[in-house]
Amino acid sequence: MAEEPQEAGRAKPGFQNPVAGFGVTFKAMFKKRLTEQYPEQQKTTAPRFHGRHQLNRHPDGLEKCVGCELCAWACPADAIYVEGADNTDEERYSPGERYGRVYQINYARCILCGLCIEACPTRALTMTNEFELADSSRANLIYTKEQLLAGLEEDMVEPPHAMYPGTDEQDYYRGAVTGAAPGTTRQAARSEGEDVQEAASTFGTQEPASKKVVGR
Ligand code: SF4
Ligand code: SF4
Repeated sequence: MAEEPQEAGRAKPGFQNPVAGFGVTFKAMFKKRLTEQYPEQQKTTAPRFHGRHQLNRHPDGLEKCVGCELCAWACPADAIYVEGADNTDEERYSPGERYGRVYQINYARCILCGLCIEACPTRALTMTNEFELADSSRANLIYTKEQLLAGLEEDMVEPPHAMYPGTDEQDYYRGAVTGAAPGTTRQAARSEGEDVQEAASTFGTQEPASKKVVGR
């Protein structure tokens, strides 16, 4: 009867195995360390890293989101919830006909794939490099529109407010509007139950310094 051929690697005598194990340890001692001291030392992410989302604004502060829900339809994880509403001359949040009244992203579902930002026709939705999203509460992982909206920069006024005089929606997308028109005032958020008096006393003609958050 023919003998079974011996498998490669099984030919070593047993006493060599521990020595071979130490060999692996010895070689690893001279390799470059890969351990990162997170969170004390944070590595810079790649420029196109997919982190937390951001809802962008036009240069005068109006919102770019038009409430079309294309991002929600594109999402494979069903993580986005959008409710659109009509702008009016008395309460305008975006230059077009519609705006995103309710906008939520559920980070317990989101896989940060970026399909939603590809689907957005107005570049209202982009992704930041922020990755520290962990939380022990499910409710805290649902980010609201207020949390996702970009901060206000110089020359921006908190919506609702009128469009730049003499411009239309197309001018905004062509980049013709570079800031809020002088004297632009915040309108009352009537759909949120705010009255004109309240809006005037809260903001007046100028945004209070504490409301201005620089950085998009
Ligand atoms: S990044 Fe992907 S999973 Fe997350 S909300 Fe956008 S489409 Fe959905
Ligand atoms: S973020 Fe973009 S795709 Fe989503 S509702 Fe707003 S405009 Fe539409």
